[in-house]
Parts: sequence; structure tokens; C-alpha cells
Amino acid sequence: MKGGMEMSMEISELFQKADWKKEKHVPVIECPSTIKKEDLCEVKVSIGKEIAHPNTTEHHIAWISVFFKPDDDKFPCQIGQYLFNAHGASAQGPNTSTIYTHHAVTTSFKTSKSGTLIAFGYCNIHGLWQSTKEISVK
Ligand code: FE
Repeated sequence: MKGGMEMSMEISELFQKADWKKEKHVPVIECPSTIKKEDLCEVKVSIGKEIAHPNTTEHHIAWISVFFKPDDDKFPCQIGQYLFNAHGASAQGPNTSTIYTHHAVTTSFKTSKSGTLIAFGYCNIHGLWQSTKEISVK
């Protein structure tokens, strides 16, 4: 049995990132770049905006998680965790329903500090993906 030291790795190395226009797994964060602190900020996070990602029983986006890290704070706050459980199955078997659910979510939050939105997505085959977007509060 291997010891803990030999098993250690940088977790951050498991999170892939790329240009969302060229890579279908990157979470795309859409929201205003500048907001007022008293206003709700609407945030949309989707995967496969430019290049569609499949949603089948065998290959799908399982979840998206969204965080906000204020510039001066050490820790991020989680804004939401979204699970996608529908992947085209029906009583006839995998991928037989006519229902398609898209891996996209819209949520809202407020912040009195500028900071960075962080989105993570998980493909059941292609692993963990990340992206960020800065928001400044006026
Ligand atoms: Fe994938």
C-alpha cells in the first residue's frame, strides 16, 4: 500500500482551462463586468456555447459549481452548485427519450466588493474544467 506522501499531487493540476471558443468543456460565464453594490448581478454559466457538448447517458456534463472570491478576501464563497441528472434516458433505455436538458444555469447574487467569479464544470469522461471572470463594483 502506498503512503500518503507518494500519493500527493497538486489538485489544481486536475482542473483544465482553455479558450471556450475552441474547447467545448470550458464553463462560459456571462454577466456584467461592472455592477453597483446594491444591485443583484445576474450570472449565466453554460458549457458548450460555441462547440456543443453532448448530453447522453454515456457522456455528459454532471455538474457546474460557481464561486465568488472578493479581491481582498482569502477564501471564495460558493454561490451555487447545480447538478444535471437528466441524460436522455427513458423506460426504453439510455438515450431513448426525446427530452434534452441543456447544461446551463442562471443565478443572481450581490456583492459589495469587487472580485472574481469562478466556475467549475465536470464532464463524466473528460474531467474537471474551470474558468474565471472579474467583476468590479462601483
Ligand atoms: Fe466531455
